[in-house]
Amino acid sequence: MTDDASHPPLLDFRNIAVYRGDTLALNGLSLSIPCGQHVAIIGPNGSGKSTLIRTMMRYDHPVRRYRPVMKLFGRSDWHVQDMRRLVAIVSNEMVHACCKSAASGRSVVLSGYYSSFELWPQHTVSPEMDSRGEEVLRLMGAWHLRDKPINAMSTGEAKRVVIGRALVNEPKALLLDEPSNGLDIRAALGLRETLRRIGALGTSLIYVTHHLPDIVPEVSRVILLSEGRIYADGPKEEVLTEETLSRLYGTRVEVECKGGYFNCWA
Ligand code: ADP
Repeated sequence: MTDDASHPPLLDFRNIAVYRGDTLALNGLSLSIPCGQHVAIIGPNGSGKSTLIRTMMRYDHPVRRYRPVMKLFGRSDWHVQDMRRLVAIVSNEMVHACCKSAASGRSVVLSGYYSSFELWPQHTVSPEMDSRGEEVLRLMGAWHLRDKPINAMSTGEAKRVVIGRALVNEPKALLLDEPSNGLDIRAALGLRETLRRIGALGTSLIYVTHHLPDIVPEVSRVILLSEGRIYADGPKEEVLTEETLSRLYGTRVEVECKGGYFNCWA
């Protein structure tokens, strides 16, 4: 996990200032994430988490006069579609968008090759693509969903299929926006274990969440955001303390750690 020229970091952002309307949503933020590292990004509503993700995925753009640097794997000249295959996002909006069709689990997973939400007649599926799709459906514990229309799946099932859609391209990093949102306890636990398996295979997991139990034990680093800036950044045990979270949220927060998982309540 070195950051030299032959092993550039997954992400190297410097001087990132991003406006959303009139609001300075990211305020000169700098951040580097080595390849293979699992990271959680946490912060109050409005702290800039979504904007950071949108900027990583090139939906939002930094102000040029601050001379921003936005490198992924040492390069800043990515074609957006290639970049989005290497760093794949799975958001709740994406799950909702996929659920608007009656495409089968297989079709949604394979649509990841075409940056669409389902296979269309003009899309050709090679035997290699088909077998990667099968592999991914099995990895996601979603093999039984291959022929099921996504609009007839539970939220947890649909989420597994949409993560599979991201995985067909063998991304180096998976950006997960509030992954347990809309899931019952059992579905959330199952998804968590599946994500741990994906992380163990070498894909960086980058979580953006309010929900501390989403953060699997393999996440070593936590970044706290506040008002578009990094408020704290470091080893999980040093950042997720009652003192730091209470200061960040402006209210007394209690934190518990059990079996490598954190939880907190006010
Ligand atoms: P978070 O994801 O942490 O809740 P956001 O990145 O969504 O934070 O928002 C950061 C800031 O940008 C907030 O002050 C929010 O009100 C503002 N903002 C977000 N989206 C828009 C928008 N479409 N138009 C104007 N302001 C926005």
